Amino acid sequence: MSVAGFVSTFTGTALSSRTRCDSSALSPAKTSKRMHMSISKREARRSIIKSDNFNRSGFKESREEAKGLMNREFTSDLVKELLAHSNIVSRGKVTVKLAKAYGFCWGVERAIAIAYEARAKFPDRRIWITNEIIHNPIVNQRMKEIGIYSVPQEGLQKDLSGIEQGDVVVLPAFGATLEEMKYINDLGVEIVDTTCPWVSKVWHALDRHQKKECTSIIHGKWKHEETIATASFAEKYLVVLNMDEAEYVANYILNGGDKAEFLAKFENAKSEGFDPDTDLNAVGVANQTTMLKSETTAVAKLFEKVMLRKFGPTDLNSHFVAYDTICNATQERQDAMYDLLAEKESLDLMLVVGGFNSSNTSHLQEIAEHAGVPSFWVDRPERVGPGNRIYCRSASGEERLVEDWLPEREITVGLTSGASTPDNVVEDVLERVFMISKLAEAKVLA
Ligand code: SF4
Repeated sequence: MSVAGFVSTFTGTALSSRTRCDSSALSPAKTSKRMHMSISKREARRSIIKSDNFNRSGFKESREEAKGLMNREFTSDLVKELLAHSNIVSRGKVTVKLAKAYGFCWGVERAIAIAYEARAKFPDRRIWITNEIIHNPIVNQRMKEIGIYSVPQEGLQKDLSGIEQGDVVVLPAFGATLEEMKYINDLGVEIVDTTCPWVSKVWHALDRHQKKECTSIIHGKWKHEETIATASFAEKYLVVLNMDEAEYVANYILNGGDKAEFLAKFENAKSEGFDPDTDLNAVGVANQTTMLKSETTAVAKLFEKVMLRKFGPTDLNSHFVAYDTICNATQERQDAMYDLLAEKESLDLMLVVGGFNSSNTSHLQEIAEHAGVPSFWVDRPERVGPGNRIYCRSASGEERLVEDWLPEREITVGLTSGASTPDNVVEDVLERVFMISKLAEAKVLA
């Protein structure tokens, strides 16, 4: 794998000289604007976005074609039937109750549509994408089929060296790091940015933290593409995964502690040179858009309380800032799960459909698990069957094969799908569930 163009996707402590992009070595002709290294990350991002080769809104001339393709490929008659019948349908012994908010969110639909528009606009050009466009295996396979290829990746490092002048590069819905954006922009290739505006909203929140000289505390998963991109735009940051980690940091702010232990604990989740003794005097809270909303709120409240206790009410504004950056789609899908589970006695089990690496889907599964309802998370139809078995994942990431998972009596199945899951995948999963039930009934009757 080439070293030039070999880009760390995580810009925290990992930007060693080996991984730093050396775009000058690769790009003899540069048509895009060069950035001065001393400018702020916010200015650097803005400068790239304003480049002539940077497209953020797709291509009007190929919009209808893209819309037609998406309608053909990702919709479902069965889901339409559910919607026409107050989100409930029955087949044989199985009744399905669909959550009020589920499936493709606006940001995901927009990202896929822009990618399709780019394909139609540049039929003869090579098109790359810097990551999976969204976290759904079936959609990502479709991208490959239409000739939009992910750049090679090994662990968290990407090899961008195959991108050449004349190529088109799509940035996925979770965004790309500043490092990647700089590198690609310096190549002067066409950039088609599908970053969800909700993700950009988080980046704007980080800009505001920096303006107030606050360290950004990002509630998220440090390995997740969106958080990797978000962190790359912060001058100083710390990523906390959950309340346990947030409480550990809060305790350090109030009482101090073992600095070496702190640095080891957040080894991959902090900005370069982070010093907990000096960099936690003023903090701003932001989040990965797909985290559990109640947890993000609790994390923000915790740090507000801590800063209040340490600095008092008069100085609070100089030491703490938070903006609500959980996206609407995430919130609506989580709220719809709580609504569905409010009548959990009427449900025999939950089916959650979404990519195994989808953060928002994992939180839907988590809500079902906390409610104590047997819940089965699958990413594709092939996980269901053959026979009465299912290969599924838990919110904590454990994957297992479950035998005899579908009761053979009359049952009601709660259903939801993650924000990156097309309806046709949900339909294909349900058809397999109906088939298992039907076969069981036929066996009894035989
Ligand atoms: S889940 Fe939210 S942030 Fe993510 S793509 Fe959808 S709308 Fe955008």
